[in-house]
Amino acid sequence: MESPTPVLDLLFPRRCPVCDRPVKPFGALICGECAKVPQPVGDSVCCKCGKPVAREDEYCADCMKMRHLYYRGAAAFHYRSVSGSLYRFKYDGRREYSDYYGREMAQVLEHFLEELGPRHRPDLLVPVPCSAQRLRKRGYNQAALLARKVSEITQIPVREDLLARPKDTKAMRSMSALERQNNLKKAFHVYGNGVRLKSIMLIDDIYTTGATIDACSGALLGAGAKEVSFLTLAIGENDL
Ligand SMILES: [Zn+2]
Ligand SMILES: [Zn+2]
Repeated sequence: MESPTPVLDLLFPRRCPVCDRPVKPFGALICGECAKVPQPVGDSVCCKCGKPVAREDEYCADCMKMRHLYYRGAAAFHYRSVSGSLYRFKYDGRREYSDYYGREMAQVLEHFLEELGPRHRPDLLVPVPCSAQRLRKRGYNQAALLARKVSEITQIPVREDLLARPKDTKAMRSMSALERQNNLKKAFHVYGNGVRLKSIMLIDDIYTTGATIDACSGALLGAGAKEVSFLTLAIGENDL
């Protein structure tokens, strides 16, 4: 379902990304009550990765000790407030959640770009790819669904054919930052020269240690990209 029409909504009631029941009122993307649950990251964020920080801090603890390959990033929601929803979006076939989340991410992006200035407006949105193996199993790449929606709203073109993940890598949930980095070495591949001299904005569902975004950034910069930033739906705190 690309952009569901109200008729389709009538036949297959759209589910709310928070409570997973048919959305109330009809025609909305999220229930009026449930809209209070996803917690926006807000204004007090790390100047590098966009993680929430105490008001007096410029950088988060992670960015103080680690150098990143990307330029800067932003996220829409605190991971904890959307973790259950994100799980269903990723593993339970809830593609329709991307309509709500993509819309919220587009808003965050416009705000972020105002802060970065016109020089940093991306030429392309590129979703973080998943392996062909995983794509077959799940039927879709949640990052690509988000990127398409953000592109539809912001009019920044999306390219899904430039960056690929040839092999499946091990699940990284219990790995340290360094282990994640090693696990992702050479995981991403850039096709053709479509990224040369372009400013790229990577789109993904969640940012944790930044290992995935850095690995993608490394591949894109290596292929001649001018600058790489990112936008994610959710971001974890440092203990994640
Ligand atoms: Zn709801
Ligand atoms: Zn940071």
